[in-house]
Amino acid sequence: MTVASWSLTCSACNTPSALDGAALCTACGQPLFARYQPVPVGTPLAPRWDSWRYTPFLPLLAGEDPVTLGEGLTPMVESPVLARAVGVRRLWIKDEARNPTASFKARGMSVAVTRAKGQGVPGLVVPTAGNAGAALAAYGAAAGLPVQVFAPRTTPRPILDTIEAMGATLIRIDGHIGDAGKLALAYAAETGFFNVSTLREPYRVEGMKTMGFELAEQLEWRVPDAIVYPTGGGEGTIGIWKALEELMAGGWLPAGSRQPTYVVAQAEGCAPIARAFAGNADRAESWVNPVTYASGLRVPSPLGDRLLLRILRETQGVAGTASEQAMRDWTHTLATATGLDAAPEGGCALSVLSEAVRAGRIAPDAEVVVFNTGSGASYRA
Ligand SMILES: *Cc1c(COP(=O)(O)O)cnc(C)c1O
Ligand SMILES: [Zn+2]
Repeated sequence: MTVASWSLTCSACNTPSALDGAALCTACGQPLFARYQPVPVGTPLAPRWDSWRYTPFLPLLAGEDPVTLGEGLTPMVESPVLARAVGVRRLWIKDEARNPTASFKARGMSVAVTRAKGQGVPGLVVPTAGNAGAALAAYGAAAGLPVQVFAPRTTPRPILDTIEAMGATLIRIDGHIGDAGKLALAYAAETGFFNVSTLREPYRVEGMKTMGFELAEQLEWRVPDAIVYPTGGGEGTIGIWKALEELMAGGWLPAGSRQPTYVVAQAEGCAPIARAFAGNADRAESWVNPVTYASGLRVPSPLGDRLLLRILRETQGVAGTASEQAMRDWTHTLATATGLDAAPEGGCALSVLSEAVRAGRIAPDAEVVVFNTGSGASYRA
C-alpha cells in the first residue's frame, strides 16, 4: 500500500480525520484541510504543462496518474489601462476563462476527481451555481465516472448545456445552490456517489491552490500587495491563501514576505461575507433571497465563512459589494480595455477594487492581481 504524503485535519480545531471518505470535521463540522510537510524551496516542480506542475504541494500518491484536462497555467495579463481606471500602480488580470469548461472550477475538480477515483467511488454528485457542475461533468467524463448535477433552473443556459454535453445527468431545481446542496446530500446518501460540494470534501480547495502557486511564480516568486477575488463559496480565495502559506513555510518567497491583502468581492444581491465582515462577526448569517446575474456569486450560506472572515481579519482585508449595474459596467470595461472575455464575476472584482481604492483601503501605489474567474461567453445565451 502506498503511504500518502499528506494527512487531513480540521481547518478550525485541528482534529485529525481519516483520508478516505472524508467530509467535514466530525468534532466541529468545519472543513478539513490537507496538511503536508513543508516543501523546501528548490524542490523540483513536475515537468508537465498543467496544474499538476505543482505536484509536490498536491495530494497525489506515488505512481498515481492525475485526472487532468490540461487545466491551469493561465495567463496573467497586465493592463496599464485598467490600473489607471481603478487608480493603482500595476494591475494584472489572471484569466481563468482559459480553463477546460471556461472557469477556475476545473482546477478543483481535477484534484477532487483524482482523489475520488483513487478511493474507488461509484460516481460523483455536486450542487452547483453553474460552473462547478460543468467542470465536474468534464472531469467525471475524463475519469469514466457517472456524474449527477443539481443546479438552479436560473443558471445561465450555456453552462447547463455544457453539463449535459459532457454526459452528466442534470437536475434543474427551483431555488438556489443551498437548495441544490440538500438534494445532493440526499442523493449521495442514497447512492454512495461522492459529494464534491464546495469545502464539504478537502480536495477541491487543494486544486484551487494552484492559482496561488502560479501567480507567485508569474511574479517571479513574490506576492502582490492585494489579490481581488469574486467570492461565492470561498474556495478560490481560501485556496490561494493556503498556497501562499505553504510557499512561505517552504521558503519560496523572499524573507519577510507576508500574505497580501485579500479583497473579497461580492454582489450587492448576495453578500453574506461582506455583511458579516462589516459587522465584525466570525461567521456569516445565511443571505435571504440571493439575487445576482453573476451566478457564481449566488451562494447564500458559504461553508467557508469562518475561514474567509479569518483571512480578511488577518490580512487587513476588504470585503465589498457591487451593484448589478456596476458589475455590467466594469465587465464591459474589463473586456474592452484588455480583449479578455470578462465574466460578470470579473467585473464585480474590478468594481469592488475601484471602490476600495477610492475609500483609501487599497493604496494608489499597490500592485494588484484581479481574477477573471470565468468566461463572458458562458453568460451569452
Ligand atoms: C464559483 C465561481 C465563483 C466563486 O468562487 P468561490 O470559490 O465559490 O468563492 C466566482 N466566479 C465564477 C465564474 C465561478 O464559477
Ligand atoms: Zn473541527
